[in-house]
Amino acid sequence: GGLPRFANFPPSDFTIEAERAAYPEAIARVRGVMGKEVPLFINGQEVRTGDHLDSYNPADPSEIIGSVCQAGVAEADDAIAAASEAYLSWRDVPAEERAEVLLKAARYLKDNIHDLSAMQILEVGKQWDQAQADVAEAIDFLEYYAREMIRLGNPRRMGRAPGEMSQLFYQGKGVAAVIAPWNFPLAISVGMVSAAIVSGCPVVYKPAGISSCVGYGLVEMWKAAGLPDGVFNYIPGRGSVIGDHIVEHPDVSVIAFTGSMEVGLRIQEKAARVQPGQQQCKRVIAEMGGKNATIIDDDADLDEAVLGVLYAAFGFQGQKCSACSRVIVLDAVYDRFVERLTEAARSVKLGPSENPANYMGPVVDKAARENVLRYVKIAEEEGNVLVKREVSDDLKATGGCYVPLTIVDGITREHRIAREEVFGPVLAVMRAKDMNDAIDIANSTRFALTGAIYSRSPANLELAYKQFRVGNLYLNKPSVGALVERHAFGGFKMSGVGSKSGGPDYLLQFLDPRLVCENT
Ligand code: GLU
Repeated sequence: GGLPRFANFPPSDFTIEAERAAYPEAIARVRGVMGKEVPLFINGQEVRTGDHLDSYNPADPSEIIGSVCQAGVAEADDAIAAASEAYLSWRDVPAEERAEVLLKAARYLKDNIHDLSAMQILEVGKQWDQAQADVAEAIDFLEYYAREMIRLGNPRRMGRAPGEMSQLFYQGKGVAAVIAPWNFPLAISVGMVSAAIVSGCPVVYKPAGISSCVGYGLVEMWKAAGLPDGVFNYIPGRGSVIGDHIVEHPDVSVIAFTGSMEVGLRIQEKAARVQPGQQQCKRVIAEMGGKNATIIDDDADLDEAVLGVLYAAFGFQGQKCSACSRVIVLDAVYDRFVERLTEAARSVKLGPSENPANYMGPVVDKAARENVLRYVKIAEEEGNVLVKREVSDDLKATGGCYVPLTIVDGITREHRIAREEVFGPVLAVMRAKDMNDAIDIANSTRFALTGAIYSRSPANLELAYKQFRVGNLYLNKPSVGALVERHAFGGFKMSGVGSKSGGPDYLLQFLDPRLVCENT
């Protein structure tokens, strides 16, 4: 093909003055236009409903980002009907043409990256660099899946038997329901949605309520890319009203979900039961939780290890399924590492993410704050508090959804804080006798998403390679920040079902293989 090889979109370079200046400008621009009613988008038309959910800035809940129309069952049904109709033609559009639409969508994101980043800074409290990385990852998914579909789009000749021409090729499975999380509100949405669309599966997309304005960016992106009506439908709505309904709908063939283990398991259960009129078995792709460990070997480079753990545990307030929530430290280096980690954690600045001086911002909403505070209490009861960065009175007075950065030690594998996903800035420190013990502790949860190890010992790195059993393992690197292709992402055990996003098997999940054999 004529396309250059895939390469990741670069991170922002804040040493360039124009790049630094672009963020406050974009934030001001977005502030100037936000706060409006956000409609649904079904079959190429805006649709308004009487039920609204306000999305607010977690640093200042009085600031409304958008008043988002909520789809009910009737609108969900309309969207699924539009997608079913669109499927009949979209599945037969040549793979290269479908890929072309993704490349145009990527162009739109590149042209609007500062405004799209600003929207995330305001709606979910991402720091500048984290917001830019999210948009960059969205661009990467589009560029990567476009190429992947071109690769898979050519029929493959099977065998070489004389007198026979046998070919294997793929078609899109049908309507895909995409149920997206708020923590990577553009990247993961665009990843799941574009994989479905390029595979020939029209989409009904339900963004998370908390990040529905970022989610509306997909409507604008697909419009700019010239996607035909009905292939993409935007239906924000309350999970309690339309969640099960979409999953159980007989005309939905694929459900792509990223979120909590509880919701992921419920989706799998509901999708397994065949409904009246259903014509196909549903495929569920579910990216769920993590309880990720970082191991610190006794010969680790502590400068790197401290910064890596700090970033993986507290970047974006720990609200990543890849976040480090357990650090397992070898006995011989325990005191030295813990002293340096706690010292570093005490210097972290907390405040609104729109100010780049703040390393940590608010958690995503009031419910998230309550949940994290509950776990801070559990951590305090189970362990010994090393750091608890109380939220200052000034910051409390803003009404922002801040929580204390918390580090506890004295934690063993039986403790809840060593087993349950917190999704916030709470880190458990655990002590290990030796490397075998450390790996054993690392593997002791029911999750298997990410992991990291800091070590200078080739033997221990190799041991981790073989025995530290997670979906994404990083040697001498933080456990967060997976890049499309280079770090194809996803786990197993209770961390999810399906193959890695941004990897070579991902699109196959949206495709049915067909084989045609001709007697020649
Ligand atoms: N892919 C992200 C990372 O590597 C995590 C995705 C998630 O939190 O759902 O940091």
